[in-house]
Amino acid sequence: MEKKEQLYEGKAKKVYATDDPELLIVSYKDDATAFNGKKKGTIAGKGIINNEMSNRLMRKLEKAGVPTHYVEELNERETLVKKVQIVPLEVIVRNISTGSFCKRYGFPEGVVFDEPTVEYSYKNDELNDPLICESHVLAMKLTTRGELETIRTYALRVNEVLKEFWRSCGVTLVDFKLEFGRLPDGTIILADEISPDTSRLWDAETGKKLDKDRFRQDLGGVEDAYAEIMGRLKAQDHA
Ligand code: 5GP
Repeated sequence: MEKKEQLYEGKAKKVYATDDPELLIVSYKDDATAFNGKKKGTIAGKGIINNEMSNRLMRKLEKAGVPTHYVEELNERETLVKKVQIVPLEVIVRNISTGSFCKRYGFPEGVVFDEPTVEYSYKNDELNDPLICESHVLAMKLTTRGELETIRTYALRVNEVLKEFWRSCGVTLVDFKLEFGRLPDGTIILADEISPDTSRLWDAETGKKLDKDRFRQDLGGVEDAYAEIMGRLKAQDHA
């Protein structure tokens, strides 16, 4: 597969065209941003960890019936993926209250929900990715009703699969963000990445944060936390 021109550079990844119009190459960077780009830094080795972790988790999800953009890992930072039209929604699933949920509602931290929550943010940097309700998604025709149902069903399935897998690693899956895309025939598939950049992962015993919140909140030990969570995953993922 030949890597051609760079199409896009995001906060954590670059995207390249290939000689196949239906496939792209994503290349994971060590750059880290938070608070809509206001905080910037580098997490050494993050790109390598996020590439491998996202690929391993997406292979697991495929087996569990969630279609993804994953095609093939090319090297330690680069992966071949299916080209999609990204749905401009961040799909957030929560098992435990923290982060913007607590801030928005003045709700206590660390409450375990009886059922996972699903919410959507409208992906728009200028507007700071505002929370959006289903009827507004449909009013702006960001998705059809059927697509939104599919997205919600997949998001909850991802939560079931990953919650159980992370539990087996001694890790609590607190919450995470997903992005979906459409194939040329309209099929909805999981896209973007699943990593400690996009998930909150706490040690099940101690509650220690093993994710990007260490960077966001200046907790220190960021690189070590990424290495630790990757080690836990590899010890448990035999696929
Ligand atoms: P919160 O809304 O509490 O800030 O985040 C909920 C979950 O979604 C967290 O796991 C967080 O990492 C993820 N998340 C929400 N928005 C973004 C975003 O813009 N970028 C990334 N990488 N993750 C996000």
